[in-house]
Amino acid sequence: MRKPVIAANWKMFKTTAETSQFLEVFLPLVKGCHDVEILLAPPFTSLAVASEMLKVSGVRLCAQDAFYEKEGAFTGEISVNMIVDCGCSHVILGHSERRQYFKETDEILNKKVRAAIGGGLEVIFCVGETLEERETGKTFDIVGRELEIGLQGADYSKITIAYEPVWAIGTGKTATPGQSQEVHSFIRKKIGELGAVSKETGIIYGGSVKPANIKSLMEEKDIDGALVGGASLDPVSFSQIVKYN
Ligand code: PEP
Repeated sequence: MRKPVIAANWKMFKTTAETSQFLEVFLPLVKGCHDVEILLAPPFTSLAVASEMLKVSGVRLCAQDAFYEKEGAFTGEISVNMIVDCGCSHVILGHSERRQYFKETDEILNKKVRAAIGGGLEVIFCVGETLEERETGKTFDIVGRELEIGLQGADYSKITIAYEPVWAIGTGKTATPGQSQEVHSFIRKKIGELGAVSKETGIIYGGSVKPANIKSLMEEKDIDGALVGGASLDPVSFSQIVKYN
């Protein structure tokens, strides 16, 4: 049985003080929500303060990226070990903003995935097509390639896949439940062919998820949760998404 996962990706938002203010409101709102795995991915600078406040809450801490080398002269980078040291259990890898603005290729992402899992983290691995790719009928080719190369040799029991159509991220356009289900079902089949026990792998949706659309997405049989950007920045709105039922 796959447990639903609802994850907040704060991107480059919130100082340490703003993180504390969010958690003071959010944690009481989700107290007792045990049937959903709640993840919070603040910026690196807020990991320590969040880790302290999340103790005994059941909410798990996630980093937004990690480098694949263990240590060394890599100015500005953060290692898996450092993230674990800050109290993280998870890391997001392959977000389309990392692929687009920081030129992370499938090959680089595969190194990151292996390093993260090797260092004890679970991975939220993002895949998804651009609008042009969708309109030219390439969705399955793109998503299939991202899975094949990005997850090569990885331990699928440590992976949750986030299907995030690039055209739906931060745009207010949500893929319909039917559009998402079609790709989620493709992903489940594909990872089965690649060696995963696919009925056990969580596949979550991301792209303009809000309190108003989470329930209909969660009704689809292959949608196991959500990765939430904009709507996770407000504690009340994020708690409503967590309590979609
Ligand atoms: C994201 O950043 O992963 C995301 C899905 O953002 P938003 O919810 O704002 O579209």
